[in-house]
Formats: sequence, C-alpha cells, structure tokens
Amino acid sequence: MNASPVPTTPAELRGAGLRVTAARVALLETVRRGDHLGIEAITAGVRDRVGHISLQAVYEALHALTAAGLIRRIEPAGGGPRFEGRVGDNHHHVVCRSCGVVADVDCAVGEAPCLTASDDHGFAINEAEVVYWGLCPDCSTTRSS
Ligand SMILES: [Zn+2]
Ligand SMILES: [Zn+2]
Repeated sequence: MNASPVPTTPAELRGAGLRVTAARVALLETVRRGDHLGIEAITAGVRDRVGHISLQAVYEALHALTAAGLIRRIEPAGGGPRFEGRVGDNHHHVVCRSCGVVADVDCAVGEAPCLTASDDHGFAINEAEVVYWGLCPDCSTTRSS
C-alpha cells in the first residue's frame, strides 16, 4: 500500500465520526463503485469482500453512512431505495420506467416548469429532489422495433 494524498476509506469513516468496521469499509466502497445500487446488490458486494453479513447489519451500516453524509439514499417511487457515493451536489436522477436503470442528471437549471416552489410554506428550502421518468435508450429501442 502506498501513501496517498486521498484519505483512505477507514480514515473517511473515522473523520465522519463513525466506528470503522470491515463491513462499513466494504459497504462504502461497494456503493461508490456501483451505480445507484439497491440493497440486494450492495449486500452481495459486501459479502464478496467480507464474507457473511446479515441484512440487518447492511441496513444499519447504510443508515449510519447515510446519516453521516458519506452516501446518499434515493428512493424512486415503485422501487426499493438506492444508494450512491455522489453526495453533496444536489444532483437529480432520471429513472427508466421499464427496467429501473438510474442515471445522474446535474442540478436542474432554469425556472420552468416547477423548480421554484410555488408556495414554500415558510420553509428555507435548500434542496430539491427531482426525478425524471422515462425510458432508457435500451428500452425505448426495444419498444419501437
Ligand atoms: Zn430501461
Ligand atoms: Zn446519483
């Protein structure tokens, strides 16, 4: 192992005030390497790295890492929660209605149609979660041919 200017995963966990366990390190790396993985895929990835881990332990680790801001949870309607390592930039998602694939969309720009809340109910809004729905290129090709 070479010394690296990038903090190691255990150092990041420690920096976020979390206890470092092999399972948490494996989970964080699995989520970062993956692309909006669901619980099952994350569990499989963690098991590949550390051997058996209970689903309960996976949920607890996901909760702790999400609360610490190291990973982000998104929950497109109709599917289970997905997790990703891209945090803190308020990016949005486009979801395929057919196969459920999720892709990142950079922060939406412009006012139309509905990015500014028409009534903020007195809240100081600092985040908007936008999900675009449609068909991914694979699915739209399959349907039209
Ligand atoms: Zn699709
Ligand atoms: Zn994303």
